[in-house]
Amino acid sequence: MNFPTEPFLNGAFRDPASKNRTTLINPATEEPLCDVAAASVEEVNFAVQSASEVWHSTWRDMKPGKRAEILFSIARVLRENSERIARLECAQIGKPISDARDEAALGARVFEYYAGAIGKFCGQTIPVASGGFDFTLRQPMGVVAAIVPWNFPFPIACWKVAPALAAGNSVVLKPASLSPLTALVLGELAHAAGLPAGALQVLPGSGSSIGDALVTNALVRKVSFTGSTEVGRRIMELASRDLKRISLELGGKSPNIVFADSDWRLAAESSPMSVFANTGQDCCARSRVFVEKSIFEAFVEVFLDATRKLVVGDPEKDETQLGPLVSSGQRVVVEEFLADARARGNKFACGGGRLFSKGYFLEPTVLLEVGKEDRCWREEIFGPVVCITPFEEEARMIQDVNASPYGLSGSIWTNDLRRAIRVSRAVESGVLSVNSHSSLHVEAPFGGFKQSGIGRDLGMHAMEGYTELKNVYVAL
Ligand code: NAD
Repeated sequence: MNFPTEPFLNGAFRDPASKNRTTLINPATEEPLCDVAAASVEEVNFAVQSASEVWHSTWRDMKPGKRAEILFSIARVLRENSERIARLECAQIGKPISDARDEAALGARVFEYYAGAIGKFCGQTIPVASGGFDFTLRQPMGVVAAIVPWNFPFPIACWKVAPALAAGNSVVLKPASLSPLTALVLGELAHAAGLPAGALQVLPGSGSSIGDALVTNALVRKVSFTGSTEVGRRIMELASRDLKRISLELGGKSPNIVFADSDWRLAAESSPMSVFANTGQDCCARSRVFVEKSIFEAFVEVFLDATRKLVVGDPEKDETQLGPLVSSGQRVVVEEFLADARARGNKFACGGGRLFSKGYFLEPTVLLEVGKEDRCWREEIFGPVVCITPFEEEARMIQDVNASPYGLSGSIWTNDLRRAIRVSRAVESGVLSVNSHSSLHVEAPFGGFKQSGIGRDLGMHAMEGYTELKNVYVAL
């Protein structure tokens, strides 16, 4: 496999200024993959400066039709290279290849959607009382810094870069240190598809070494971040100094609520993948399952059955559903949660141990009898661990659901329409699904309440987030 390993700046891979490199390890085999350059603060400043120059000279004022043509062309080139993208994602983070293929296709689709959005996203005319002519403009901001995590590296990069470019901004993309490869390929392919050099810069490197320089650079007008709540808080503090625009997509501890009147067997069969997909490393993972007491035992039995059937193993195989955790460090984090669960007397209905002699694999783990004060109940684990608990009263259950500081996603299973609407209104989450576990639609807003974030990705809402709103009044 051919690995991109250098910063992608002004339309080409460049020799890095510093000798610092990070060795990527394939988490399924524990074998080294390649050494990727760590960009320096000087390269951050160069990338932002050049992105700003191309914005002023070319991208900001390009005709919308031409900009749309380039984004459609990027989508086409991404599709042509989707197998390469999927293979790189599989190698760098251990994502099962079938999921990696879906995510490569999703990235291309996001570019198509925002290419189409360019001609449809518009301002208004407003009948002001004084009788003049009043209209609004949606204008690009300038340079957007897009900082993305390692769990869905390619699609999240696409769903920040595509709307930011569509709205007429240039972008400096910083992938996570564990997953730079598909971001670098995105830079390369976007340029090959006709994006002007410098409109998308890609800087591999750790947040601790270049994050502050990127976020505080005066030419960066907006920071679009997806990652942990802790780092999101830091970015918000830094961005407040010059009132940069921010959007933050952060952690979650999402509920999966199952009422006895639902098709609860279907819920139980499908729920394991709503928390264990991506080996639980998913901000939308339904890691707290609330089941109405009358069906609790039967539900747990079906849930356990479905969990035992999940195919865990080599992510390169088509049939694999769960790969390894992303790193040995992430496995240690999850094992600390499991140790806490043991110490607190939580019941392990299945799982709890390592799998295989090579790779950072863990068994999918189902915990019962977890106290509301226990760490596994309260905190985002980011591993294949779920807590299932019974409830009796709807109102009390909703209080428990909303007791979390997070509010990203969730599922509600019921066949009672009024209950579905009532509970959807009451749950404090940005993204809910009734009788399914889907969280994400390219056309619809995605983001969180409370400490799960600020702002929305995807849909036309993202276009709003990458533009400034200007009002112009013409006296007549
Ligand atoms: P992370 O916060 O450690 O890192 C995310 C990105 O921020 C990486 O690129 C990292 O290098 C960078 N970063 C780290 N420190 C920085 C700093 N001081 N300044 C600027 N950038 C910095 O998160 P992670 O471990 O990569 O991802 C896991 C987290 O992401 C989980 O909490 C998960 O819930 C969250 N997540 C949220 C969503 C969502 O849409 N809400 C989606 C995916 C992941």
